[in-house]
Amino acid sequence: MLEIIQLPVLTDNYIYILHDPDSNETGVIDPAISQPVLDTLKSRKWSLSYIFNTHHHSDHVGANIELKERTGCQIVGFGEDSKRIPGIDKKLKHRDEIKLGSQIAKVFATPGHTLGHIVYYFASNHVLFCGDTLFSMGCGRLFEGTAEQMWHSLQQLKSLPKETKIYCTHEYTQANGQFALTLEPDNQALIIKMQEVNKRRSLHQPTIPSTLEQELATNPFLRENSPALQQSINMEYQSSIAVFRKIRELKDNF
Ligand code: FE
Ligand code: ZN
Repeated sequence: MLEIIQLPVLTDNYIYILHDPDSNETGVIDPAISQPVLDTLKSRKWSLSYIFNTHHHSDHVGANIELKERTGCQIVGFGEDSKRIPGIDKKLKHRDEIKLGSQIAKVFATPGHTLGHIVYYFASNHVLFCGDTLFSMGCGRLFEGTAEQMWHSLQQLKSLPKETKIYCTHEYTQANGQFALTLEPDNQALIIKMQEVNKRRSLHQPTIPSTLEQELATNPFLRENSPALQQSINMEYQSSIAVFRKIRELKDNF
């Protein structure tokens, strides 16, 4: 099984260090900064084999070059966005598989937040590293893609097994949940989830990982087909994409 270390960095980012004990290979997802990664590698006596990038934003690729210089690791990212991924060595395509030792990740293109966003799904570990595509109770802002593209991207993630653990890159959960409650104030799963989230944040604990099952029950961006949600925003009988677009607009102005 993959060992996963979660490092809170900057204001609200997470860096994830992945270690495969069988092969002793180590990877890092979206290293915003280098020092906490180097410190972890040193204390664990691990050497870095790979950087896995989800997208080109600086809070995800910021330490690419320094870590490559310091560790000799390979940088893995989306081939179609290779010009914007500093130091990229391995260029992935949609539906490629990439190995960390004996652990295999399936790669999905998820345009929306950026056009070149990808996610990494380790099926046998039931974990998804989804960058800024899916957040707990939210989704990434549409900086480059359309609502339609993001909706299609999220449909791919929605179809993964419900027990999948959701490792996103930002701790935005509490604010996302406050917005979600304005759309579905009577959603019991959401009310219970927010009690847990508020408790964790008051103790400065992470709310990540979430699970896909929890997200399907609470995340408005996965619940565009909920009649109660549609009613609360006056979007009954509209297309899924139109409802999704409306939810995104409301969140952008929340
Ligand atoms: Fe981003
Ligand atoms: Zn980000």
